Amino acid sequence: MDFDLPSQITAKLAELDEFIEAEIKPLERANMQFFDHRREYARTDWENDGRPQPQWRALISEMELRAERAGHLRYGLPKSCGGQAASNLAIAAIREHLAAKGLGLHNDLQDESSIVGNFPIVPVLDAYGTPEQKRYIEGIISGKMHLSFALTEPGHGSDATWLETVARRDGDYWIINGMKRWNSQVARAHGNLVFARTSGKPGDAHGVTAFIVPTDTAGHNDSAILHREGEGLMVAQRFVHENRVRQAAASVGAARYCIHEAAKYANSRIAFGEPLSRKQAIQFPLVELYAECELVRNFVFKTASRMDRQDPLEISDMVSICNFRANRLACEAADRAMQVHGGIGYSRSLPFEHIYRHHRRYRITEGSEEVQMRRVAQYLFGVRGKRASA
Ligand SMILES: Cc1cc2nc3c(=O)[nH]c(=O)nc-3n(C[C@H](O)[C@H](O)[C@H](O)COP(=O)(O)OP(=O)(O)OC[C@H]3O[C@@H](n4cnc5c(N)ncnc54)[C@H](O)[C@@H]3O)c2cc1C
Repeated sequence: MDFDLPSQITAKLAELDEFIEAEIKPLERANMQFFDHRREYARTDWENDGRPQPQWRALISEMELRAERAGHLRYGLPKSCGGQAASNLAIAAIREHLAAKGLGLHNDLQDESSIVGNFPIVPVLDAYGTPEQKRYIEGIISGKMHLSFALTEPGHGSDATWLETVARRDGDYWIINGMKRWNSQVARAHGNLVFARTSGKPGDAHGVTAFIVPTDTAGHNDSAILHREGEGLMVAQRFVHENRVRQAAASVGAARYCIHEAAKYANSRIAFGEPLSRKQAIQFPLVELYAECELVRNFVFKTASRMDRQDPLEISDMVSICNFRANRLACEAADRAMQVHGGIGYSRSLPFEHIYRHHRRYRITEGSEEVQMRRVAQYLFGVRGKRASA
């Protein structure tokens, strides 16, 4: 058993480092208001419902354009989308590596944009979309056509199978009725992926259909359905595993960054006449986090590597373990980094509050911590399937 990352992956990480230094850091340095203590103010259009400032979006687009030219942006996408079909292990290693560099234009947390693109919906469109729907693929990658995701409702989030939005046929058309909440970035979207019940009863996974609804249209016919009627949630489910492991890898990287920054600061900060790092009260919590980080990092890479050889649906307990442990670890490491840095750690001058807030979200969205634990419990107690051997 070899626990080292394969040499092609370490070579790719080195290539990305060179690219960031040559092409991204100069751009970032020329636009520091988006990254230093002014970041919230500079990025937000306060007079326009708090949407992203056009200049901020333009900077992200320039980053993506440079990454595209260098051949990095599509690295994780299927070959049919112009990508290089990178393995789950390669993408997990990249996500971890980029997050461990801290805040920067190379890997923005808020927007989830990165030099190696995060496009979770693209493989879904590639696998299940009609030729007409596949038009979104290039649009999403180039940033010219955004497709937002409308599953959550005011009354239902984790229990998405209980959603209340309904769609009913009216001749050749569908009429969709309901309310959605947390429909991120719908304001800039050209299409909205709307989930609605078309058959079955509340709680059934079957019977929920995914419709691609152009944001400027009033009615939709059958061509709006992504994949098959009633199988919308199954389509989404097939791809959440890849995304959950990638998210976990990013959290491990963020934790590694926070732990090392805190250790560095503790060595340099003199308190009561000696470096802070001499105090065991400072050392031990960081040692605990460092140990946890090593363990979770290895488990995340192991799970990603298994996903390259096995149907991810068979090891969803491992995926869930990665997700909730890594996301929690990132929050604990960011919180500890703030504590070790004292007042300056709490302020916006340092990145920890931003890192904390972002990774805190991962513990709620896209399958909350409790939803992940519920999945592990299903294996552990034999409620559904058998436990995958770790
Ligand atoms: C910044 C942000 C962006 C988002 N973007 C999108 C988006 O683009 N599209 C979209 O569709 N949604 C989006 N969401 C919504 C997100 O997916 C939901 O918030 C998430 O699914 C949780 O649902 P909820 O908020 O309704 O919480 P609830 O489901 O009401 O859960 C509340 C709490 O109870 C816990 N809980 C629920 N069920 C159980 C159980 N069986 N056992 C134990 N505990 C349980 C949950 O873990 C949580 O802690 C976004 C949310 C945020 C914060």
